[in-house]
Amino acid sequence: MSAEPASFASSPVVILVETQMAENVGAAMRAMANFGLRRLKLVNPREPWPNEKAAAMSSGAFRLLEIETVASLEEAVRDLNLVLATTARAHDIAKPVCSPATAAGLLAASIDRGERVGVVFGRERWGLTTDEVGLADQILTIPVDPAFASLNLAQAVVTVAYEWRKVVVGDAAWTPFPEKERSPLAGKDDVLRMFEHLEGALDAVEFFRPPEKRASMVRNLRSIFQKARLTEQEIRTLRGVIAALEGRSTRPTARPYGKALETGPGKDPAGEGTNS
Ligand code: SAH
Repeated sequence: MSAEPASFASSPVVILVETQMAENVGAAMRAMANFGLRRLKLVNPREPWPNEKAAAMSSGAFRLLEIETVASLEEAVRDLNLVLATTARAHDIAKPVCSPATAAGLLAASIDRGERVGVVFGRERWGLTTDEVGLADQILTIPVDPAFASLNLAQAVVTVAYEWRKVVVGDAAWTPFPEKERSPLAGKDDVLRMFEHLEGALDAVEFFRPPEKRASMVRNLRSIFQKARLTEQEIRTLRGVIAALEGRSTRPTARPYGKALETGPGKDPAGEGTNS
């Protein structure tokens, strides 16, 4: 699904009301494009679009967007069925309040019903008026520390856009790149033999002192390595390390470190330099 082109009809419209700084508009555009939102309505921006500062700040994202300037919020919402107003403040108005994640679900469900949806953001300095919030069906508030509740406009947009993206993409192939393959997790047999090798090497240098502490020290050591969920390759690397510390280097010839690296991946029995 990550390769799916964002559709104009099937994503929420972002509505920015009377933005004061073109840079914030550009940063909001970039966030929108990052998360597959494609339609932007600017309500009476102080610095009209097109605008060089906004374009530069958007990093070219504006080219992916359909951008429209309108004179009022009423005009911006006229063709929509569901409108959410974002605010960090309790406006004196009785409306259901939802989180970004819940909002994303509501928006997606509405779009599935063939409705058109939008999310409204306020001015940098004083947000949305109560009348403007009144035009919305619900309030969307981003959970913040009440001691410092107001996000930067574009950061509020990115938070909402990210939650939207998560709903759209779901669990299927959500990374934009294929995950790098790990070498398989080591079997317990290999892990246990590595432990025995390590513990034998430590016995040889009388590391476990006093002897009655040996059992608990071994348990601690083993749990450190268990946490790492070691792969087969990592076990080979560790076996090589232990052998080297035992003075039984498995390397073909003892060479300075820089030289050893030149043996390259695959040739090095300790496995260093290979991806795991
Ligand atoms: N000082 C303004 C906030 C301006 S921040 C005020 O007191 O309302 C610009 C816009 O970002 C806000 O109007 C709102 O749309 C959005 N925003 C900022 N913080 C938010 C939050 N915690 N939750 C939801 N939206 C937020």
